[in-house]
Amino acid sequence: MGAVLKAAHRAPGAGHRIEGILVQGGTVWTPSGARRADIRVRGEAIVEIGALAPGPHEQVIDAAGLHVLPGMIDVHVHVDDTVGQREVADTFPTASELAVRTGVTTVAGFVTQRPGETLTDAVERCRARAHERSHCDVAFHLTPTVWPWDWAEVEGLVSAGFTTFKLYTTYRESGLFTSYDRFGVVMERLASLGARLLVHCEDDGALATMDASGLDFSDPRTYAALRPELAEVVAVERTLELAARTGCGVHIVHVSTADALARIAAARGRIAVTCETAPHYLRFSDAVLAEGHGHRYLCTPPLRGETTRVRLEADASAGSFDLFATDHCAFTRADKDARRDDIRAVPKGLAGIGALVPVLFELLVKRHHRPLGELALRLAANPAKLLGVYPKKGAIAVGSDADLVLLDPNGLPHPVVSTLAAAYETYPGRTTTLNVCRVLLRGRVVVEDGALAGARCPRGLSPCVGVATR
Ligand SMILES: [Zn+2]
Repeated sequence: MGAVLKAAHRAPGAGHRIEGILVQGGTVWTPSGARRADIRVRGEAIVEIGALAPGPHEQVIDAAGLHVLPGMIDVHVHVDDTVGQREVADTFPTASELAVRTGVTTVAGFVTQRPGETLTDAVERCRARAHERSHCDVAFHLTPTVWPWDWAEVEGLVSAGFTTFKLYTTYRESGLFTSYDRFGVVMERLASLGARLLVHCEDDGALATMDASGLDFSDPRTYAALRPELAEVVAVERTLELAARTGCGVHIVHVSTADALARIAAARGRIAVTCETAPHYLRFSDAVLAEGHGHRYLCTPPLRGETTRVRLEADASAGSFDLFATDHCAFTRADKDARRDDIRAVPKGLAGIGALVPVLFELLVKRHHRPLGELALRLAANPAKLLGVYPKKGAIAVGSDADLVLLDPNGLPHPVVSTLAAAYETYPGRTTTLNVCRVLLRGRVVVEDGALAGARCPRGLSPCVGVATR
């Protein structure tokens, strides 16, 4: 195992400091499949997997009848940040609490450089927000906004473990728009550094040609109409062309159309491309925009028609998405409602962090009869690979961090909760039978019976260090 780097910060001490733990008798989902096994934990790591007898000073955790999965990872959350001039509703304390209680042990947020700030300053600003305030591990993707990028600084940050960058093909008004020419320059440099580029794909030119005259801006469906599927498809095509030319690894965030996904699928093997979708594109169509509270469901890209949603659900169950991530971006109910008469002024984004695991479980495992290993693959292993931290994260293997989730798939139905903040619930009325019984984060029990176990431990015990290693 290499040096611990500073790409992210680690959660403060939570749970017990114990000599050693034996997780006994569970069905363990390793990268090679599921088997009955015991897991020995020493310090922060898994040291042994097999048929193991408890040692004299070991705490035994009975996992009989339970499934043991690697701690899951949400690679796309907006927390403790300003998005589109508004503070999001969730802070690291609230978001990370719900994350660990639902089996998510690492989240990745975004560092967006502000005017007058170096990228390194921006990193420090964001890390400070997470520092000793998070119940889970936190990583960050970087968005430089000053052109040209300071390549020496970027190179230093990549060496320090920040291996993922994110750019947008639109959002001129926020100063986030990047032209395809600049994408090409960035991708050539990132390819040479071995870094990956995350891309928000909505072609700005396609959006600009939409005629907004005479449209009803009190109707949430207008927002969706002005951001058509074609804009995503065009931007994905351009991004794939650039990736092919530059050899840069790309990850397409929040894919919302089956046509774009088909382009990505066709490019696999030829290009190092991966993609994600968010659970809300699988569970909701634009029909919810027509209901009384449609403004609550405004997000970017917008929810699509039912035909597309059905195709995306089929694609998800067939394994066409490398991973799922929430794009958690909760705004307070007051902020969502303040200008609901004008959809241009409604902040765009949905809560989702607490829904990632239960919604995908209900969809893939219960509805489409996929094995629980789908969650281990697409909510743990593949996200860890994107972050460059696999198999330290995202796998139950000797040497991996002891991030473990003990699950009972057949619990009593209970509500899906997507946020602890004062934001609208994205999945009202939806339930899950998935019980998160216990969660270990780097060898510490952080969740017991669905509740935080960390209150019993003084905060700030563990060092604040990065999840990224190599
Ligand atoms: Zn996002």
